[in-house]
Amino acid sequence: MVEIRTPIPVKEAISRVMHYAQTGSKVSIPIEESLGFFLAEDLAADHHVPAFDRSPYDGFAIRAKDTVESSQVKAIQLKVIGEIGAGSVYAGNVQAGEAVRIMTGAQIPAGCDAVIMLEDVEEVILAGEKYIQFEKQLKEMENITQTGEDTKQGEVLVEKGTSINPGIMALLATFGYKEVPVSRKPKVGIISTGSELLEVDAPLEQGKIRDSNSYMLIGQIERAGGIPLSLGQLEDDFTLCYNQVVEALEKVDILLTTGGVSVGDYDYIPAILEKLNAEVLFNKIRMRPGSVTTVASINGKLFFGLSGNPSSCYVGFELYARPIIRTLLHTKQPYLRTEIVQLGAPFTRPNPFDRFVRGNLQYRDGKGIAMPVGLDKPNIVTSLAGSDILIMLPGGSSIYERGMEVSVIFLEDQHGSSAWLDMGYKREETGQ
Ligand code: AMP
Ligand code: MG
Repeated sequence: MVEIRTPIPVKEAISRVMHYAQTGSKVSIPIEESLGFFLAEDLAADHHVPAFDRSPYDGFAIRAKDTVESSQVKAIQLKVIGEIGAGSVYAGNVQAGEAVRIMTGAQIPAGCDAVIMLEDVEEVILAGEKYIQFEKQLKEMENITQTGEDTKQGEVLVEKGTSINPGIMALLATFGYKEVPVSRKPKVGIISTGSELLEVDAPLEQGKIRDSNSYMLIGQIERAGGIPLSLGQLEDDFTLCYNQVVEALEKVDILLTTGGVSVGDYDYIPAILEKLNAEVLFNKIRMRPGSVTTVASINGKLFFGLSGNPSSCYVGFELYARPIIRTLLHTKQPYLRTEIVQLGAPFTRPNPFDRFVRGNLQYRDGKGIAMPVGLDKPNIVTSLAGSDILIMLPGGSSIYERGMEVSVIFLEDQHGSSAWLDMGYKREETGQ
């Protein structure tokens, strides 16, 4: 008997999954290895930057007051009483009529409140002593980089959950993080199922295809911030698949399977979930591709039964598994960012389910245009390679003309969004 499944809206499916979202544990890693990890704590400044008033130029530290009389008619002269390089501090207190030679980055000596640039002065010797002579007037604090000008103590510079880039590495070093608190990357297992599948290095055989989903998922998991673990390519055999799922669940934080999730004779995933007493969150969604995407909770671990169709598998991962991985990595923006742009091609056949069409974003006259890529069939693997967005076409009776406004999901986005399709989804709810 074929099981009848009740499809639920995408938004509902996401909220059911996210109900199980948890933040992960923290580990410390050396700063040198931190690129691409996710900060597990806010990065806050524990001191002002700069920590002292310093000179942005090569020149002379002086007292602004000494320059009030200076003019083109009457240059003033200040006695040079010392010199400080970057990293050194001038020990004395500078008095009226005195100046100290200062290099870029050096601390302003006590008594001084301005810097005159080297190119603005003439160095002269008077009665065997070194003087500078110039015609400018300087204001208090002129040419001084003030304490805390870049960053104030206590300021949060980077929020936890942010992926560490080279600039963040510089900040971490500025604040003395030899070891960096990062989120432990979750281990995400992949099992591909299907008797038609060949290993990647196997020659093609009649009726068989190479397993591309496993490799696509390796990329998607890494892009999301997880550690992919390939845990087998299995034939459609209940016992084989069941045993492998049980074994895999021991080793991973999240388990993904591809294929075998529909209601066909060789689709064993539903029976496996039943035998495992899994709590199935849903097994049918009002979306294309990927309507049979199934998510279950098994003893506290999330199991994503993704469809075998490459595009369905791809979309299923991005919509449901990615925000779970990102939440484990402590981000407050676990969803992919969306934007409303113009549709570049018409879709004139209404579809009761929401569609997620692979596409790329082009710009014409500064306006974003969402162009579909390739054929919009779930089993077309080639169109995935050229996609950087998913164009969302809400289901219902609507048809979509070229030029209409649609929401697109950015697949390569790293920043993320705190709400699922915050802008676009209302449209769908009113459209149905
Ligand atoms: P299934 O979800 O098992 O019904 O699979 C749907 C279709 O997706 C199959 O007919 C295959 O053509 C294809 N497929 C399944 N698994 C994979 C895979 N790992 N890599 C590439 N294509 C797959
Ligand atoms: Mg199959």
